[in-house]
Amino acid sequence: MKMHPTSRMLFHIPCLTPHVSFITFHVSRFIFHVSHFITIFFPVLLLAQDIPVFNSERAFNFLEQQCELGPRNPGSSGHRQGLQFILKTVVPLADSVIQQQFIHIDPYSGEMLTLTNVIAQFNPAMKKRIWIAAHWDTRPWADRDRDRKKRKQPILGANDGASGVAVLLELAHHLSQIHPNVGVDLVFLDGEDLGKRGDLRNFFIGSRYIAKNIPTEFPEYCILIDMVGDADLEIPKEGYSVMQAPHLVNQLWQEAEDLGLASFQNVVKHTIEDDHVILFEEGGIPAVVIIDFDYPNATINYWHTTEDTPDKCSAESLEIVGTLLLYHIFGLGKIQIKNYK
Ligand SMILES: [Zn+2]
Repeated sequence: MKMHPTSRMLFHIPCLTPHVSFITFHVSRFIFHVSHFITIFFPVLLLAQDIPVFNSERAFNFLEQQCELGPRNPGSSGHRQGLQFILKTVVPLADSVIQQQFIHIDPYSGEMLTLTNVIAQFNPAMKKRIWIAAHWDTRPWADRDRDRKKRKQPILGANDGASGVAVLLELAHHLSQIHPNVGVDLVFLDGEDLGKRGDLRNFFIGSRYIAKNIPTEFPEYCILIDMVGDADLEIPKEGYSVMQAPHLVNQLWQEAEDLGLASFQNVVKHTIEDDHVILFEEGGIPAVVIIDFDYPNATINYWHTTEDTPDKCSAESLEIVGTLLLYHIFGLGKIQIKNYK
């Protein structure tokens, strides 16, 4: 993922007021937390009969297990183990699993890298399908580390890599138990973070490949998730997403509001090159990204540093994003699917 060099605010809508009763401002911190929790999750509980509840503990465990394998940059042993970890988890859960393997010649070293996109399918026979995607590789260099000596080290990618995969793996558990009224493909993309700074052509290798070799029925749209584990979760709308599939962005943020998920902010803050831009531009798939780029905030950023570790992430953040996706997927049976193209 790469910040657009001319990143700017496209337009500004005042943030939604958090769903916190006024009374909470006058009572103890403990009561505040309880009240906030109830206010956030009560709508979910009301819908619990229809919509599965996201298991945040299991999801966070998926994040930690990936990090225990070490950095998962292509060519490393962590990368080989990371692929096996995804396959081991999804093969027993999905209706079918596609492995899309291809060779990529690293332009900097000349090394031949084997890259693999994994597509875990649910309801594979259904023509009407959506993709939920995340990249699973991690960056080979911590090139934004504060410590210059560490900038050639590979990153652990707890947030930038493992968080999106953790949410997808947890979704797979639910999709295996209750089939939604739409085909769902969980798409694990490889080779997202292989480019050097400023060299955009050498990022997003897995999404470039799948955009030209779509192995499923053509999806209605794709929701990409990236950097969704930040313990201080704030998810504004992203600039390219708003341009590529505005109705889908509005629907997702409306669903977040319906659920009282105040981390989703009704404001466009950053414009970010990520796999969703490639899927749209090279594959014609209406694609959006759910991303918390300010990790943890606007002044400090662990992005592409050796500090992108599990202690900076939280189970609750994975749950917020996973809950929205479950609501979106299982709500589709009850609401009309719009034409996002
Ligand atoms: Zn990255």
